[in-house]
Amino acid sequence: MSNFKHVIESPLDYVIIQPAPESHILIINEELCEQCENKPCTYYCPSRVYSWDEGIKVNYVRCIECGACPYACPQQNIAWQYPSKGYGIQYGILTERKLTVESGK
Ligand code: SF4
Ligand code: SF4
Repeated sequence: MSNFKHVIESPLDYVIIQPAPESHILIINEELCEQCENKPCTYYCPSRVYSWDEGIKVNYVRCIECGACPYACPQQNIAWQYPSKGYGIQYGILTERKLTVESGK
């Protein structure tokens, strides 16, 4: 029974996202996107960063840094890098919420 709290914890208790002020994702040539069949970035990204609304839209603050998009774009049209130091997603952090859960407050 002592492990029960660990079962009901959300994995998100260990995740912090600190969006950078500027995007770490660059579409190299937006004209290529217009000709891109099916626009696969709009469905392969697990965090729905890409969308299409009369042009490619990149909601970079949603990025969970899986690293897939530069490889999955059929046109090699995405320049992706990690966000600058101190920004982006961090895993394994003991968040204030988790501390509250463990202390029972
Ligand atoms: S998959 Fe690549 S080329 Fe196609 S719409 Fe997305 S970014 Fe543009
Ligand atoms: S790195 Fe992953 S989560 Fe971030 S935009 Fe690319 S596919 Fe989406």
